[in-house]
Amino acid sequence: MDQLATGARSRTVAPRFSPGLQCGNRVDIQCPECVCEAERLYGFTVGLVWHAFDFVTRCPVHESSLRNGGTRSLLEVELNNVRTRGARENSLRFAQRVRDILQPGSQRPPWARILGQLESHGFLTQEGRVRLVPLDQAFKRFYSDGFEDVRQDWLVKNVSVAEVCVRAAARGRAIHPVLLILLEEMAANVDSVVRQRSFHLVPDIAFKADAEAVMAHRAQWGAHLAANPGLTRTQLRRTATATWAWLSRNDRTWLLANQVSATKPPGGRPPAQLPGPLLDAIRCNTTDLRYSAEGREPLPSAYQERLGFGMTEYTYDRVARTLNESTAHRQLPANRQVFVTRRVARATADPACGGTQALSVIARVARLRPETLVDFYQPT
Ligand SMILES: [Zn+2]
Repeated sequence: MDQLATGARSRTVAPRFSPGLQCGNRVDIQCPECVCEAERLYGFTVGLVWHAFDFVTRCPVHESSLRNGGTRSLLEVELNNVRTRGARENSLRFAQRVRDILQPGSQRPPWARILGQLESHGFLTQEGRVRLVPLDQAFKRFYSDGFEDVRQDWLVKNVSVAEVCVRAAARGRAIHPVLLILLEEMAANVDSVVRQRSFHLVPDIAFKADAEAVMAHRAQWGAHLAANPGLTRTQLRRTATATWAWLSRNDRTWLLANQVSATKPPGGRPPAQLPGPLLDAIRCNTTDLRYSAEGREPLPSAYQERLGFGMTEYTYDRVARTLNESTAHRQLPANRQVFVTRRVARATADPACGGTQALSVIARVARLRPETLVDFYQPT
């Protein structure tokens, strides 16, 4: 995948998002119309990679909303719940670009394609560096309608995608394919959107100050940066207060794009935030996502719930901790009584029991060991 992304060597072969943002198990996600077609053509159902790809909520061919066709992607489908027209259109375009990128054949590495597009739309400086501030603004504007998947919706509104991609590329690291696809879709179409919404890359300086004064101050600041390569952002500001203040008042966008990067705060990086919409979706969820065969009471463990969520252990534990251990169906062994009692109640109501009170028969129908039943079941 890193070859696909940048053509460069990278530390991680498959880049992942932070916990809660990274998608879980998506193997059971299907398009109802693709399923019908496959059954007609081959006599069985096939899973399609472009449906299982992160954050895809619609079939790129039939445009229909994807559903869960098994037991392993229940939460993934639950998280597809932003119901606006703009989100639907963005999600469909994303799905179609995913399909295109998965087509076999030799393609130019996406990062090179993206840089080419960005250059033609004026997002690169003459030295070939990406203008991060205007690019980030244009990106947020382009995707302001969001996406159907709550996590992707959160991602485009809260993460500086352009900055993450540029930094990773500068260090020769792999870039998450979702970010590349988002950026490429934007870079390919931004022109029309930008013009339509009259968004100016270069601020209209005629209203703020004389163009000559702008150029003079830009030149002063540029010379100051070049003369003092070792100074921090604050030190640079304090040693050229007048120029900085003038540019800050009259040409702020340019100034922000032409500063040295901020010094890192001391201490390690705090763990990435869990997306709020993901936590809300789990908190409000009323469907039991655990596997249950033939309508029997699902096993009451956190493990079963984690499988139902399709999450890694680390993400699940963080979600459970954040929600104060109160996910809907997380039960501890202390609740074994509840579990056995419910299974026995269903078994005795089952015609297979034939109204018997024999422990061995009830145990067989409930699929529990007779020893388990003895402690909890009192024949009436
Ligand atoms: Zn389809």
